[in-house]
Amino acid sequence: MINNKITQFIREEVLELNAYHVPNANNLIKLDNMENPYGWEESIIEEWLEKIRDVQLNRYPDPEAKALQARLREVMKIPERAGLILGNGSDELIQMICMSLAKPGSAVLSVNPSFVMYKMLAKFTGMAFHSVDLNDDFSLPIEALLSRIEEIQPAVVYLAYPNNPTGNLFDEEDICQVIEASPGLVVIDEAYYAFAGNSFAKYLDRYNNMMVMRTVSKMGLAGLRLGYMMGDPEWINQFNKVRMPFNINTLTQVSADFALEHVDMLDLQTEQICRDREALFEKMSKIDEIQCYPSKANFILFKVKDAAKVYQSLQENGVLIRNLSSNGGSLTDCLRVTVGAEYENDAFIKALQESL
Ligand SMILES: *Cc1c(COP(=O)(O)O)cnc(C)c1O
Repeated sequence: MINNKITQFIREEVLELNAYHVPNANNLIKLDNMENPYGWEESIIEEWLEKIRDVQLNRYPDPEAKALQARLREVMKIPERAGLILGNGSDELIQMICMSLAKPGSAVLSVNPSFVMYKMLAKFTGMAFHSVDLNDDFSLPIEALLSRIEEIQPAVVYLAYPNNPTGNLFDEEDICQVIEASPGLVVIDEAYYAFAGNSFAKYLDRYNNMMVMRTVSKMGLAGLRLGYMMGDPEWINQFNKVRMPFNINTLTQVSADFALEHVDMLDLQTEQICRDREALFEKMSKIDEIQCYPSKANFILFKVKDAAKVYQSLQENGVLIRNLSSNGGSLTDCLRVTVGAEYENDAFIKALQESL
């Protein structure tokens, strides 16, 4: 029976959406979601357990997560003058930005293909979403982007650096031009900062309409759900007003603080992943039937003749990656593999060769 109340009261934008689908990864080698494959040494786990032993779960968390903020400032060398805000994952930061900016008629601008949550959260908050198609080599179409900015006067422009799902870094000068031409905010999403070797944090002093957003998810702490954003303190003050008061739970605050105290361990894992990314790219490049795109993140995008067939075959051989083909356009027949541990990458290469 059709429930009329649902169509009567649920917003159009929500009725039209498909829920974010996460496939079951039971017993599969999981290379679909940009996770770090490594755990912690036993002695570190013991130390962490000691820390969380004292956590009082009957008490609300520190609403400002002051200790964690101080740790982030120290470890990530966040300039003293910059404001800092934390989110339950950087997804929540994107949500806060959109909620703060969603005046009637306001617009979000990004590029295509890029991270899907920019569009989703624009829709959720009733903002118009616009995007400009990337060039064939996935570089920024700077002239088209500048004229779109002029035309739609976006309240916010999102650029992922490196971009997901393409893995490349856009030209730094081009991005500076976008920031300078934008009437509103420009968010540089550095979710893959740990693997990229470059950051826009150095421009925090130059631009007061730029935010640098990051997450600890891709550097090995996806389970904690912690994103952070730095930028002009006056913008940050406004975003803080729409932030749920206890958005970073106590276990996350204590665990992230602990993990960042041991950031050397995470850095070693990141370095290993970067080396393995190069090794994986080299092996993939030697396969004639596929085209793969250079990456500054912890994943590699590649194009095959029949993405559905390759994806299915990989899964039957125990390897789960991401099929992006349904996005269409330049992603038709494209797949994305996360760089895993060496034995996982080897299993992927073997399964990939069998699938072609
Ligand atoms: C993964 C990802 C995020 C979201 O990260 P969370 O902190 O886990 O919510 C944001 N932006 C980009 C480009 C990503 O790929």
